[in-house]
Amino acid sequence: MIVVMRVGSPEVEISRITDELSSWGLTPEKIVGQHKVVIGLVGETADLDPLQIQEFSPWIEQVLRVEKPYKRASRQYRHGQASDIVVNTPEGPVVFGENQPLVVVAGPCSVENEEMIIETAKRVKAAGAKFLRGGAYKPRTSPYAFQGHGESALELLAAASKASGLGIITEVMDAADLEKIAEVADVVQVGARNMQNFSLLKKVGSQPKPVLLKRGMAATIEDWLMAAEYILASGNPNVILCERGIRTFDRQYTRNTLDLSAIPVLRSLTHLPIMIDPSHGTGWSSYVPSMAKAAIAADCDSLMIEVHPNPSKAMSDGPQSLTPEAFDSLMQELSVVGKAMGRWQQPAAAVV
Ligand code: PEP
Ligand code: MN
Repeated sequence: MIVVMRVGSPEVEISRITDELSSWGLTPEKIVGQHKVVIGLVGETADLDPLQIQEFSPWIEQVLRVEKPYKRASRQYRHGQASDIVVNTPEGPVVFGENQPLVVVAGPCSVENEEMIIETAKRVKAAGAKFLRGGAYKPRTSPYAFQGHGESALELLAAASKASGLGIITEVMDAADLEKIAEVADVVQVGARNMQNFSLLKKVGSQPKPVLLKRGMAATIEDWLMAAEYILASGNPNVILCERGIRTFDRQYTRNTLDLSAIPVLRSLTHLPIMIDPSHGTGWSSYVPSMAKAAIAADCDSLMIEVHPNPSKAMSDGPQSLTPEAFDSLMQELSVVGKAMGRWQQPAAAVV
């Protein structure tokens, strides 16, 4: 249920209503939008009469029921307003959101060694990326495949952030590693395979770093939003959703089927920012540019692209990784679509 306050409602009135609702055993959550304040109520609201709440104050414009099972993740919970997710990076805040410039995240699948991660960081930064991605803990289909360098790779990510000024996004697979990952990561990634690891979702929801939640490969949109709801309900409001391809019947030519229709669908259902990963989405570097451009045209808020200095030698996901040179030219192409969509921020050096 949400209580929509009138424009200009006095703060004391909002507090009075919030206190009253708390005394009813509810947990009201104040959501400050661009124009209006909304008070969100989740929990045992089924028996509440909206009219009774409406009578609390003439400053209450409306009391509405949130129909969706994902309450906090629903667009309605914020009365239709998109969320801006502000992530602190060494070079200042970067904002993910519907009304913000596109944010590009790039880097290798796995952190392999110091030289490659620092080189990749510098190259993707120069091309306009704001975040470096790279796995220290890798979820691999085979237990015999490279599992990531773990803790030592976290140190390399910290060094690459220092050398480039980029923010860091890296995956947590096991809650036991969360604390040390969150020391280095500016955004903690929950991978496709863990999208419904509910105990992990509760753990990332109980710490302050923003969370990137990838879509499970067989997850419906509703499964995915319910997974986001776990994080939001645990107290962390900063969740970014990432579509990375789902399993369909044809795996001969693409690794996954990138569901770009998820962009307008999510936009209508949720206030959370939307990222697209065309690298895992297609599995092949030659298909990445088309899908990255299409994703911007479909109005995504962010892109995640795998880049490796020498893809043929990569320890994981080489076939889908772009070279730094290919990433440079992709960013040029993306700027054309990004500008057409009004979502492109000129690099600082280009601003006159
Ligand atoms: C990744 O981003 O490196 C990764 C493993 O992605 P996903 O969870 O989408 O497979
Ligand atoms: Mn990968």
